[in-house]
Amino acid sequence: MAHFSIDEWIDFARGVDRREKSAKMREHLDQGCSQCSKTLGTWRHMVNFANQERGFAPPAYALQAVKTSFILHQTFSAKENRGKKFEMARLVFDSALNPITVGVRGTASVVRQLLYRSGSLCIDMRMQPKPGSQSVVLLGQVLDSAKPDQGIGGIPVRLLCKGDTLSQSRTNDVGEFDFGVTPTDHLQLVFGVADTRNIVVPVPDGESIRGMIEA
Ligand SMILES: [Zn+2]
Repeated sequence: MAHFSIDEWIDFARGVDRREKSAKMREHLDQGCSQCSKTLGTWRHMVNFANQERGFAPPAYALQAVKTSFILHQTFSAKENRGKKFEMARLVFDSALNPITVGVRGTASVVRQLLYRSGSLCIDMRMQPKPGSQSVVLLGQVLDSAKPDQGIGGIPVRLLCKGDTLSQSRTNDVGEFDFGVTPTDHLQLVFGVADTRNIVVPVPDGESIRGMIEA
């Protein structure tokens, strides 16, 4: 039985009607494909969630983030990652979505400020164009909200694209890290907080990175 792709199920869940295609997909479900019906179930849930959260983030962004986590989940289900735990950090602040931020230090319009959270851990991140290049610099700090005055130093950080490592380093003594990033979709940062605990942070998509360079 030929299955349908994640993209096709996302459109289906969003109610994008492609007539013949939608009919075929419905038929496929009626034939009892548990894999596809599970995929659709996940995406129906996400679409509902994104719609409810519209005031917080545009559905396109929310869907992109969830799609990234879905791809990531597939990647990290690989054998070598068995037993490791991956947590998707939640975006709690994005200066691109909250343009009026009075009193945020160092915030110019070309600098994008992002804050992610997973449990008590916070990842404070800043993106800014690298002058004279077609890339941006991603600077950040890993913090524990229980001890906000000190960063989490010496932990591995990897920049991934669809699960492949593009570059890796470690946070410095105060928990800071930085990467040069070219406009690419499906980028994630993965922080190895503990042997079995990994925190995944989605990097804004290629289009918005390109927008910063051209600004
Ligand atoms: Zn199927």
